[in-house]
Amino acid sequence: MSLNFSMPDWAVQQIAAEPSHFPDLSSRMELVIGYARRNFRHATGGPFAAGVFEKESGRLVAIGLNRVVPCHASIAHAEMIAISLAQQTLGTYDLGGADLPEHQLVVNGRPCAMCFGAIPWSGIRSVAIAASGEQIESITGFDEGPIHPHWQHELRRRGIEVIEEVMADKACQMFRDFVAAGGEIYNGRRDAPAT
Ligand SMILES: [Zn+2]
Repeated sequence: MSLNFSMPDWAVQQIAAEPSHFPDLSSRMELVIGYARRNFRHATGGPFAAGVFEKESGRLVAIGLNRVVPCHASIAHAEMIAISLAQQTLGTYDLGGADLPEHQLVVNGRPCAMCFGAIPWSGIRSVAIAASGEQIESITGFDEGPIHPHWQHELRRRGIEVIEEVMADKACQMFRDFVAAGGEIYNGRRDAPAT
């Protein structure tokens, strides 16, 4: 038995054609927002994308897309796919290993409770976020889940840098375009059943 979370063909081809390095944070976020937009336009997943980069050099290690609906997998969030692809590419479960450069996760919206929890496990040393959880929820109706109220502090005290509101306006516009295009909102269980 095995698990297979595949990226769509268009993304595989597009990623192969990208530059090898994205030196500044805005170019990394612009790349990620572009992939999030293409993902819903191609109907290959939700409007979320994430990238893993070498923090200093900007080398692109992996791009992940949200693949929940097409892969029949509630865990197939963009951050989980990007982190996993980076780990598979580098042949290690620990992106923070002593023999590796520091890695940065760049994502177009604040990680949900699951992806927040995955970050310390991954060895990622820096997280850059565009839209806030409140912005995503108010624009799209996605329920981002019960994240820790002091999540930034919890990451920082584990030595993980947190950078928020990177190109947030551009990310929010992309979410509005997703809603205007009639994008599917899938959610976890929200309300307790009536008893
Ligand atoms: Zn998530």
